[in-house]
This record gives sequence, structure tokens and C-alpha cells, in this order.
Amino acid sequence: MRAMLLDHPRPVENFPLRLEELPTPTPGPGEIRVRVRCCGLCHTDLHTVEGDLQLPRLPVVPGHQIVGIVDALGAGANIFKEGDRVGIPWLHSTDNQCDYCRRGLENLCDHAQFTGYHVDGGYAEYTVVDENYAYRIPEVFSDENAAPLLCAGIIGYRSYRLSGVRPGERLGLYGFGASAHLVLQFARYQGCEVYVFTRTAIHRELAQRLAAEWVGSAEETPPQQLDAAIIFAPAGALVPQVLRVLRKAGTLALAGITMSSIPSMDYSLLYQERVIRSVANSTRQDAREFLQLAAQVPLQTEVEIFGLEQANQALQALKKSGIKAAGVLRM
Ligand SMILES: [Zn+2]
Ligand SMILES: [Zn+2]
Repeated sequence: MRAMLLDHPRPVENFPLRLEELPTPTPGPGEIRVRVRCCGLCHTDLHTVEGDLQLPRLPVVPGHQIVGIVDALGAGANIFKEGDRVGIPWLHSTDNQCDYCRRGLENLCDHAQFTGYHVDGGYAEYTVVDENYAYRIPEVFSDENAAPLLCAGIIGYRSYRLSGVRPGERLGLYGFGASAHLVLQFARYQGCEVYVFTRTAIHRELAQRLAAEWVGSAEETPPQQLDAAIIFAPAGALVPQVLRVLRKAGTLALAGITMSSIPSMDYSLLYQERVIRSVANSTRQDAREFLQLAAQVPLQTEVEIFGLEQANQALQALKKSGIKAAGVLRM
């Protein structure tokens, strides 16, 4: 099978991924093999290929927003049948037995494995996964439109949930891309007013088209205080900026897997029971709930499509904020 393989992380401008012919994987017991139709691009892929994250194994095939067709079943696999369309997200497996798994926090599992990180992911024609960690894709979505739901969407949903925002309240989104453009839509569906903070012109234009209440830059002060906010951009300097416009007891959720240092700040910005919390990975329950909600809304994903062998160029575009919302590789 063809795959885009990472041997040594380096800046994406130096083309770290190379097209390689790899053996097509065989599904083990309880696993399914999926013929990949497309795979979404995520900032985590960028952090992987550039080496911002410690990589547990090399070489590795990145990609964790996979949409494809089940084409082989391992021994004992019985949830799906050949021909079913499934999605595979970041959470590839858990141990089902550590303290976190037992507390319903399998996203924090001590032995979690992540797709395109611990195991080969979706920048390839085939992949295998434990059938308990794959999900049916609602029919309302095309393959390409479904791909961004699998990380941008699911993580966005968990961030939204953990921000504690309630219907009718004001939600701020800092940084706008694949995840924020989906959160904006379901937050509006749930009756929230959404305030979008971004500098990039193509992002502002899309936020406006998706009926954001207000669009501005992080340094600006919106007309109303925010009840909750989510930072998607990996910029710690935003934290005090957000607290400045967050109401008492409001929550700021940090959705990124990495973030630059948070500057020291005056305690009064946090006082009055404001909460800052990070969001890490997601649970299978998040994935199921979100895919159902996505079909119900139904969410419109704005995608830009690239060929598999253009993965380097696609990640370069993502890095330069040159993609309006979500990028997708098509096999
Ligand atoms: Zn666990
Ligand atoms: Zn991701």
C-alpha cells in the first residue's frame, strides 16, 4: 500500500514525509482493516512531523481523522461487516483498567495509544484498529466532509462541554480553523452567541458567514463579557487576554496539545472564581455523542482537498493559516 511516512521529524518546509510502499496490514483478533478513503489534517500532525511532540516510535505514518471502508475482519470481530463505512479518531486504544479508565476518564488512560502517533495512522491506503475504537459515520456526511469531525469535531465538542457554556450564553473562540468552525455551528444550534477572535482574513470571513455574533482580534474588547471561552491557538499569551473579558466564575478551556508559555499575570485576572482548564484527547463516549449531534445539526464542514502525496504541501498550508477551515487528504 502507498503511505506517507515520517522517518525524522523536521520543519514541514523541508518535506519530512515521503511516499513509501508499505506492506498492507493484516487485522489481528478483534480488529478491522479499513481501506482509507480520506484523512483529515490536524495541527497535531504538524506537531508530530516537526517533532514538537516526543515521538514514541519512528518511522510512523501520521493521520488520525480517518474515514474508510471496512474491508477485512480479524478473528472474533463482529461489530462491523465488510463494506461498512467507519471513522477512526486520535484515541486508538486504552487499557480499560487503570484508575482513569475506571473513573470514566479513558481520555487520560495511563496506557492510551494514539492513532498516527503510537501506531500508523491514516496518511495511507489501509489501516487497522480494534473494532471498539471505530465509529459508524452518519450517512448525511460525504467522506471528505466527515473527516474533520473525527478530531477537530470531537475535541471541539469535549472543549465545548468542559467550558461549561450553557444555551443562550456567550462563548468566545480564540483561533479559528477546523475545530472552531464546527464548535461555532453547534454552539449556535444550542442557542449560544459566539464571539470569534482571529486575525486571519479568510478565517474572519468564514466566521461571519457562519453567523458569529462578533468577530475581532484578541486584543479587542467585545461589547459584552464572555460566559466561557476556548483557546484553539497554541499561544499562551492569549490566556491573560481572555481572562480580561471573561465574567466572574467563567471557564476558559485550552484545547491544544501544546501551547507556548503562559506569561505571568496579575492574580486579579483569575480571582472571582474564574477557571482555566486544559482539554486532553477524548473518550469513546465523546465520539459517539458528537457524531450524533453533528448529524442532527447537521454540521457543514468546509474542506480543502489534497492528494495523499501532497501531504507535505498540505501541512505547509495549514501551518501558514492558508487553509480556510479543514484540510483533507484523499487517497
Ligand atoms: Zn486506562
Ligand atoms: Zn487531531
